[in-house]
Amino acid sequence: MKPAAFPALPTLFLSAQDVATLVHRLGLPATLDRLAGTLHADYLRWPSFDKSARVANHSTDGVIELMPIADDATYAFKYVNGHPKNTRSGLPTVMAFGVLADVATGVPVLLSELTLTTALRTAAMSVVAARALARPESRRMALIGNGAQSEFQALAFHHLMGIDEIRLYDTDSAATRKLIGNLAGQPGLRLIACDSIAQAVRGADIVTTVTADKTNATILTPEMVEPGMHINGVGGDCPGKTELHPDVLRMAAVFVEYEPQTRVEGDLQHLPADFAVTELWHVLAGHTPGRTDAAQVTLFDSVGFALEDYSALRFLREAAGELGLGQALPLIPALADPKDLFGLLHRAAEPRPVALALAA
Ligand code: NAD
Repeated sequence: MKPAAFPALPTLFLSAQDVATLVHRLGLPATLDRLAGTLHADYLRWPSFDKSARVANHSTDGVIELMPIADDATYAFKYVNGHPKNTRSGLPTVMAFGVLADVATGVPVLLSELTLTTALRTAAMSVVAARALARPESRRMALIGNGAQSEFQALAFHHLMGIDEIRLYDTDSAATRKLIGNLAGQPGLRLIACDSIAQAVRGADIVTTVTADKTNATILTPEMVEPGMHINGVGGDCPGKTELHPDVLRMAAVFVEYEPQTRVEGDLQHLPADFAVTELWHVLAGHTPGRTDAAQVTLFDSVGFALEDYSALRFLREAAGELGLGQALPLIPALADPKDLFGLLHRAAEPRPVALALAA
């Protein structure tokens, strides 16, 4: 790395390549397992976080969101978009990055990619919820929507929940073929491409919906839902972008991350403000039961909450430290006299060595 132009405070930078290397070195099952453990532990500290619904800027084809959260020691935010039409022009639907900062001083300590990490944390979070809500003997999952998030969901449920058969459906059969190609050779995992959502869902213990379309879709309708199913609704996460028929919510016990956010963004947006839901942290903390009987239908109306990105960033910082990954990013200048910010301009004005000036 070239020497920094100015002395700088130590902000760790993790690129997408660093995170891919981190997953490769730890192994995907261990990465998902550690992430699920970190998420669970942070959800148990729910009251110690200063929480708010994310700030969303909507446009015709998508949304750009900022997701802040803090406890007494650490502040985090994620920048994330959702543009379902992006894949037509070769861009991902979801792209993200985020920051961890020290609450005591405001110093940003980590700037990281979160595109890959969002897929990892969303899959791990789906499992944290399913461990509390699905029938423990669940072995068969339907996976509707086989895009960027889908392999992560499949492998999290396979490795952490014992799912051994996944029935796949996507309106784009190339997406399903891509998933099957990526996961071919996973020992003990049977993948079955289906011709319709109804065929994929029939007989499933768990149904994961992870589609992307900026519309009020009805991926799941009440007649598809069987007693005892757990529904992991991941793709309905924005006003006007939902996946479930409202009657599916009426027939289920509904669990959410942060209620004020899910009322606006989740499939819950279709139901009146007094429709009862339970925040998942109450179940994880043992305040309230999750599933109450084997025939009950449970639904995790996932939208993605800032705490999950705080946990993911915390995990990345810890694991990158263990593995020696990342680079020091000269983002914030270190000042000899903190009141002499202006002095930095004099340093920039100093003539640079000829060789460096030519290389620039
Ligand atoms: P993607 O565009 O890569 O994949 C989405 C897939 O859904 C595509 O293959 C598309 O063909 C398919 N699809 C669209 N309409 C369908 C339908 N009616 N039936 C079956 N398949 C259909 O997107 P992605 O990155 O995989 O994200 C999927 C969804 O998950 C998005 O809506 C995204 O906003 C959401 N998401 C939620 C969270 C969360 O925490 N809840 C986190 C990340 C992404």
